[in-house]
Amino acid sequence: MLTGIHAAFIGGDARQLEVIKKFIELDATVTLIGFDNLESSFTGAVKRPLSFDVLHDVDALILPVVGSDEQGYVESIFCSKPIQLLESHFAALPSTCCIYTGIARSFLKKQAENYSIGLQELMNRDDVAIYNSVPTVEGALMMAIQNTDITIHSSASAVLGLGRVGLSLARTLAALGAHVRVGARNSADLARIFEMGLTPFPIEELSQQIDDVDIIFNTIPAQIITARIIANMKHSALIIDLASKPGGTDFRYAEKRGIKAILAPSLPGIVAPKTAGQIMANTLSRLVFEHTENRRGKK
Ligand code: NAP
Repeated sequence: MLTGIHAAFIGGDARQLEVIKKFIELDATVTLIGFDNLESSFTGAVKRPLSFDVLHDVDALILPVVGSDEQGYVESIFCSKPIQLLESHFAALPSTCCIYTGIARSFLKKQAENYSIGLQELMNRDDVAIYNSVPTVEGALMMAIQNTDITIHSSASAVLGLGRVGLSLARTLAALGAHVRVGARNSADLARIFEMGLTPFPIEELSQQIDDVDIIFNTIPAQIITARIIANMKHSALIIDLASKPGGTDFRYAEKRGIKAILAPSLPGIVAPKTAGQIMANTLSRLVFEHTENRRGKK
């Protein structure tokens, strides 16, 4: 339970509603900032404008997945007015407060450091990334189905990278009957790909592995599908780039060559906002509980 814990939510999207619901269920005191246009009324949560006095006793400040921009602006689909976090807002937070966000840009990191406030980035956590790989893979399959005229079954599919997304994706493609080859740079990953019954190849050999591939899924956040690689691909091939912006594909050259290449970010929030919200809700409620217990233990 989160009884006695004051959680303030600033902005967000549909995913945040699941987190708010969970915090209310767990008996936290919940303040909503930047939710003016939210239709559903959460019994037990109070809507307040962003002010210094609302922040002075906050235990957990919960920001959207994307955090804030470098000027402190926080996005909210539930509010038409801009919400800007200023340095003075961080100064108003108690030092026992912890800030939770999906990812933190340097503005947020700097403010947390300057005011000695804890900062937790959810998307950097292994557990969250692995849970999130489930809706990400489903979204990637959706993109592949929508953008090809062949089945995934029997297709020649390549996955680049065997991290948290790559592993889930390679396994799912194989379960659907695709012929899956996976490119990785480290020898343990190549061994794992072999153990899974898939075809491993060292990533530096990508250009030799690509000429017969129907669908290529990139999860490597670096320029990997270069013009030289694209030049070796079939015209009918499809590139689905899952890596964070700007992706790992030379999109300009792909377009020039007439090869369809799609950058597909934020799939969990698009294809399964409720599940993605529940993943965040479960992790956040646990983290806030642990943080508060640690703090109480130190008193
Ligand atoms: P991850 O676990 O860190 O996996 C990244 C993979 O890329 C690892 O296999 C890593 O190899 C490899 N890699 C990194 N840099 C490389 C390079 N320069 N050359 C060759 N291989 C390289 O990350 P993840 O959680 O799977 O996420 C992968 C990407 O997808 C990230 O950019 C993430 O932000 C993004 N993402 C997108 C969505 C979406 O909806 N589109 C959802 C979740 C995540 P090593 O292990 O050898 O370093």
